[in-house]
Amino acid sequence: MRNNIIHGQSCKICNTTTNYAFQATILNKYTIEYYVCPTCDFLQTEEPFWLEEAYRNPINVYDTGLLTRNYEFSTIITIIIYFFFDYRKTFLDYGGGYGLLTRTMRDIGFDFFHYDPITPNLFARGFEHNDKNQHYELVTAIECFEHFNNPIHDIEKILSLSRNVFFTTELRPQHLPEQTWWYYGFEHGQHISFYSSKTLSFLAQKYNLYYINLGSCHLLTSKKLNPLLIRVLISFRHKGLFISIKKIMNSKTLSDYEYLKKSTVPFL
Ligand SMILES: [Zn+2]
Repeated sequence: MRNNIIHGQSCKICNTTTNYAFQATILNKYTIEYYVCPTCDFLQTEEPFWLEEAYRNPINVYDTGLLTRNYEFSTIITIIIYFFFDYRKTFLDYGGGYGLLTRTMRDIGFDFFHYDPITPNLFARGFEHNDKNQHYELVTAIECFEHFNNPIHDIEKILSLSRNVFFTTELRPQHLPEQTWWYYGFEHGQHISFYSSKTLSFLAQKYNLYYINLGSCHLLTSKKLNPLLIRVLISFRHKGLFISIKKIMNSKTLSDYEYLKKSTVPFL
């Protein structure tokens, strides 16, 4: 029987030596160990040797919430960008999967671009992040942080693109183990990094940013914003606020069509 005294690898966030937390079976065949950091609360798996297998299908078959989630997040991101950032500037969806959010945000009227090194871009072709020197008003990262094998590397890459990051990830249960928690994703093995609000506050402090918790949504930002006001405005998104902003914005659906038609890039 293992116990908390057993020390694991270094914490991938703050470098403290981690403690053994529990073990579980992933992909229905590998028994692996999880380690928790006593300093920043970060929970990580042992060094993942199963990722190639886990990513044979990059969007896992169990992700039935993909479309609903995309719509919900697009309404929340719309509220945040419109009221708290310069909505006329450019934005990037980091780890944007098939490009669904980028296309959705462009359809609303925001100048969004797409970046994903793993998943093929199906919906936002022609709007890929290509310019390495491009700086964005805000970067979104939907359901990415729990996939990061080297979170500091990815977070620093994101922060080099923008000092404002909206991202989503479920915060880990306070008491470990709680193996019924769906977010561990034992069946697909792609979730290997789990954060608490303490972990995210640690990151904010490390990079001299403000951290705002919005449930499973999070903001790391250089701007001093009012969290209560953000929460109130988000709560009004389905009470006419999102639709009103959508009416004010100029959708890029048609102008993108014109742009792609004139483009010399062979998309087909
Ligand atoms: Zn740590």
